[in-house]
Amino acid sequence: MEDVRCVKNKLSFTSLNKMSTGLQQFIGMMGMDQEKYFLLCELKSITIQCLEMEQENLQYEQVVQQILNQLIQGLEAKEITFYQYNEKKQRLYCKVSTNHNKNENNVDYIKICEAHMKEIQNNDLFYRNFPLSEFEEYELLIPLKRNEQVIGLLAMMENKQNSLMPQDSSFYKALSTECTRLIQTVSNISRIVAEEKRYKQLFRVTEKFHSSMNMDEVLREIIYTLREVFPNFTYYLLLSHDNNHHNDLPIKDLEYDSENISVMQAYVTGTAQFEDLILEQKSVLYAPLKGKQGVYGVLQVTSPCMMIFPKGEIEFITLLANTAGSAIENAQLYSQSKRLIADLQLINETSHQLNSNLRLTETITYMKNQISKSFNAEEIGFVLYEENGEVEILQGSSDFFKKQQAWIYIRYIKETIIDRKESLFLGDLQLKGAESFLYRSVMAVPMVQSGVVKGFAVVMHSEAYYFSFEAFKLLQSLIHHSTLAFTNSILREELEKMVVTDHLTRLYSRSYLDKKLHESMNTEKEGTFILIDIDNFKKVNDTYGHQVGDEILVQVSSIIQKNIRGTDIGARWGGEELAIYLPRVTLTVGEVIAERIRSKVQLETMPQISISCGVSYWNNAQEDTTKDLFKRADSALYEAKNTGKNKVVLGLVE
Ligand code: GH3
Ligand code: MG
Ligand code: MG
Repeated sequence: MEDVRCVKNKLSFTSLNKMSTGLQQFIGMMGMDQEKYFLLCELKSITIQCLEMEQENLQYEQVVQQILNQLIQGLEAKEITFYQYNEKKQRLYCKVSTNHNKNENNVDYIKICEAHMKEIQNNDLFYRNFPLSEFEEYELLIPLKRNEQVIGLLAMMENKQNSLMPQDSSFYKALSTECTRLIQTVSNISRIVAEEKRYKQLFRVTEKFHSSMNMDEVLREIIYTLREVFPNFTYYLLLSHDNNHHNDLPIKDLEYDSENISVMQAYVTGTAQFEDLILEQKSVLYAPLKGKQGVYGVLQVTSPCMMIFPKGEIEFITLLANTAGSAIENAQLYSQSKRLIADLQLINETSHQLNSNLRLTETITYMKNQISKSFNAEEIGFVLYEENGEVEILQGSSDFFKKQQAWIYIRYIKETIIDRKESLFLGDLQLKGAESFLYRSVMAVPMVQSGVVKGFAVVMHSEAYYFSFEAFKLLQSLIHHSTLAFTNSILREELEKMVVTDHLTRLYSRSYLDKKLHESMNTEKEGTFILIDIDNFKKVNDTYGHQVGDEILVQVSSIIQKNIRGTDIGARWGGEELAIYLPRVTLTVGEVIAERIRSKVQLETMPQISISCGVSYWNNAQEDTTKDLFKRADSALYEAKNTGKNKVVLGLVE
């Protein structure tokens, strides 16, 4: 009677007091004593409680623990342990026990062979006759079966005072059925709940992915979710082409020459791979990070023990890995489009500038600055092919190209471009010759106009593999878009040289004077040539600025114009040097004209300056050339400068 009371106290919803005589008779008919009947009722009540509970709070292990607690009290056993059977691995895992030492150790398992399994399958209980030595500490073992399939074992240890020896096996059979149902129900519910939780997480990640362009944020969310759903695993993202720093994220570079075949297989085939690390007693899953256009890396999931990843988990991890792949792909596409926009802006801005009629040197300087800004280049040069096969380094190129050392590069690039008929993209150029390892990264793009190569632009850096292929493509675009502007500038400047008047001074151009002098020397009897140089002009520029310097040039030119006749030719010789050719004029008259201009300049210029003149003369009585005539004037001018300036000196034939 003591025992019955004991059980009664533990019952939550059945009251013995209220039990009818009819029910007592029914229990008797089932061949079971009351205590055992109530124990079964209690198990059923746990099932109902479970169904009534908030599903999210349902914890499989806790419920099993509750069952075992109920059993140990109801049966007055010493210890009860539930072993769960894993059919694939043919192992019994010690899952939950009333002995807490065993609970903590729930990775322990017992391997079962097929013969033993058959025996377990064919029996409803074992009392001190279990075929496996591992279970010899227990007296009673009850297989839990569903549809004849073993799902686990209840292993019981008896107290000294109370034997568990089964008199009525029908009770244990009923107990087994009840426990099986209960464990199965709870396991189903908790599996559904876990699945629901996972997919909620997946939904959250996907939502994040769709609302953010930030790759880091999405990757962080993915790792967070994985840790949340499977906290026992460790994770790494092995990324290809990763130049970013992600701080706290578990990211490693994917090494292409990796000896880890599974990683490479996952990466190359785009399918999940598995690997058992026997030595470390670990299992690893490699899930590819797959986007729509390719695989961007591999998610490495390491379990703390050897195990087979369940199908559902693989599916879930694969889904997350694919989300990561899409996130990376999106981020890459985004930054690629941002870069393209920046490139287009650069090209647009450059074309715009180049079309605004810059002088060639200004064009080159502008281009040099743009390239140096966009590519971080150390040296930038623009090289033009000349008709005689030589090359000209355009003004505005960086200073290195004025040096002798540059020629080894220029020659090599010129030959290679002619040879290959295409741009050069060299990562580690090592030319033979002194100091030719100075610049190892070299990009050179030919300037082609109407199918003719006019020259090339070259961009260099001392570090090897400094420029990216994208930079190379951009340089090609830039040069392609600016070649027309270059050649236009070049043509215009050539034209200007030919054009008769100088745009600043309104005097004739030197080439025009040259031409007229030739004509005159061929057809006339005599003539006088005056070469004029402004004294201390540098000082004028330095004191008043170039603007005022230019004005002085204009003033002097205007004085010249006013003091010569229409048939005379006043010309800009170059810089601040001017020249006058007086056809059919004798040396004496020429000297007077030079002297008149010299004194007027001194009187009329503001700010006041002076000029020095060298005068030379020719007549057809003696052999003479334009060159000699210039030379004599130049020497006379030199003498004027050296003997006090502000004077006229005659350059006579010796
Ligand atoms: P000197 O001839 O008496 O020996 O002295 P200088 O100061 O004239 O010396 P130099 O001939 O070497 O310098 C000429 C200067 O004239 C240098 C250059 O900056 C300036 N110059 C040349 N062409 C122009 C021009 O078109 N405009 C202005 N503003 N300056 C010019
Ligand atoms: Mg000068
Ligand atoms: Mg001068």
